[in-house]
Amino acid sequence: MSEATRDPKHALARLRRASRLLITSHAAPDGDAIGSELGLAELAGTFGLRCTIVNRDPHPASLSFLPGVDGILVRPELPAGFERDFDLAVVLECPGLDRPGLDGLDRLPILNIDHHLENDRYGEVDFIDEEAPAVGEMVLEMALAAGVKVTPTMATCLYTALVTDTGDFRYSNATPRAFAAGAHLVAAGARPHLIAEALWEHVPVRVMRLTADLLETLELLADGRVAVVSADRAMLERTGAKPEDTENLINLPRSIDGVKIAVMLKAFKDGAVRVSLRSRDDTDVQAVAKVFGGGGHKNAAGCTVPGTLEAARAAVIAAVLAALEGR
Ligand code: 5GP
Ligand code: MN
Repeated sequence: MSEATRDPKHALARLRRASRLLITSHAAPDGDAIGSELGLAELAGTFGLRCTIVNRDPHPASLSFLPGVDGILVRPELPAGFERDFDLAVVLECPGLDRPGLDGLDRLPILNIDHHLENDRYGEVDFIDEEAPAVGEMVLEMALAAGVKVTPTMATCLYTALVTDTGDFRYSNATPRAFAAGAHLVAAGARPHLIAEALWEHVPVRVMRLTADLLETLELLADGRVAVVSADRAMLERTGAKPEDTENLINLPRSIDGVKIAVMLKAFKDGAVRVSLRSRDDTDVQAVAKVFGGGGHKNAAGCTVPGTLEAARAAVIAAVLAALEGR
């Protein structure tokens, strides 16, 4: 029976009944995904739980500084015998159980921890808080509810989750609650200037070159209210960049004066285009992503559209224009 709760104690109680955790998050993991996984693994370790983190995709290079990140298994499927080897899967930051991209997760009992709108509540216990600034902040709440002392490594991972999901405390989720969590994590040993430098000041040159290629594709539509960029496999080949190097690049078209909605299309695999959407103010891109079976938040959402880059581009632009006109 599913139990939806905002109370970290329920999530903790379920965690404590387990002994061997499989921890995962969404495909193409970001700072909140990786930071929450590592923070949760350390927390669970203090209860004597054995933890294995498995992700389908590698993390962006900007997260390589996180303590423990090299221990994450990156593989296209769950390890053989996982039903025997684990007694609970903790799925972080995933509104649906398809988001990790790992088949068979539903064969384990699931603790679902998320802050997205419209989470499917696929867990045995669903710890869902749509007002949480980041899932990393929810993991901090679990640590505080458990009375566990937050170590500098845990603080570093959870602070990274918090700053990446709030855009360095610049987005609308930079609430008093986000700053309170930040203050707590800094007091516990997270070093904001070192984390900011590691995240933003060690950009591999291939990412800079990819950024240049991407901006060459920039198009402005609807009187400059919509900005569209696209990346394809040829760009990766030319620059030596990897799919995960596109993380955050959508912030560039979004930052253009007058732009209400930014769209980034990524055609790296045959027949499927990944789409990232960002918006300002009350413009809701989650609704646009939903049209294509995706989701996210009001101002940051994503989806996968089958077909060619051109077809996906046309379909997504039509939906974006409709959303702008409030249709
Ligand atoms: P991004 O553009 O960074 O991949 O994703 C932006 C936001 O939308 C994130 O909160 C992410 O979890 C969500 N999101 C991205 N792609 C999908 C998708 O295919 N399905 C759902 N439900 N959410 C998505
Ligand atoms: Mn998040």
